[in-house]
Amino acid sequence: MARYTGPVCRLCRREGTKLFLKGTRCFSDKCAIDRRAYPPGQHGQVRARVSEYRTQLREKQKLKRIYGLLERQFRLYFFKADRQKGVTGDNLLSLLESRLDNVVYRLGFASSRRQSRMLVRQNHFSINGKTVNIPSYLVSVGEVIQVNEKSRTLLPVLSALEVSGGRELPAWLSLDMAQLKGEITALPTKEDTALPVNEQLVVELYSR
Ligand code: SF4
Repeated sequence: MARYTGPVCRLCRREGTKLFLKGTRCFSDKCAIDRRAYPPGQHGQVRARVSEYRTQLREKQKLKRIYGLLERQFRLYFFKADRQKGVTGDNLLSLLESRLDNVVYRLGFASSRRQSRMLVRQNHFSINGKTVNIPSYLVSVGEVIQVNEKSRTLLPVLSALEVSGGRELPAWLSLDMAQLKGEITALPTKEDTALPVNEQLVVELYSR
């Protein structure tokens, strides 16, 4: 599946907020948004006109970029969320959070979702004992994600674990550090995501 491969700090600067796309760098004083808190490009410092559409669009772009998705993939998640029972915005966040690459990141086995996606594709994780290398795999309640035995000494995993030690584990996950495995104990809710995004504006955008 295609993905954005350009410089990710530009995306944060575009949205005017930290999207935490680069792992440890995001917590250092090298963070681009701390240094240049204005949109990239020639007209970055020109004040843009605010409109309802623009506000909704920016919220959608933020969410897409946080999870590293392109428009088509993101739209499919929206339609799936819309078909489910309940509040569409909440369903959308729950679906995005349940992606395997996100769960691996949330468990602290990778320092960013981008790195997580790469590690998943390289066969470093299993679900219920079976290796899964599909980053978009939607993890269900009760499934156990584990770092494969041969991957436990992998440098990116070890350094991610060191960094994520200070990160709070979401309430819908449980983690066994000794076995390097985690379990989904409940479906993620909107409150669990704690993202700087108003998902209701995304719903309004697609409902236009
Ligand atoms: Fe965004 Fe991280 Fe880059 Fe800062 S370092 S601009 S938070 S990706």
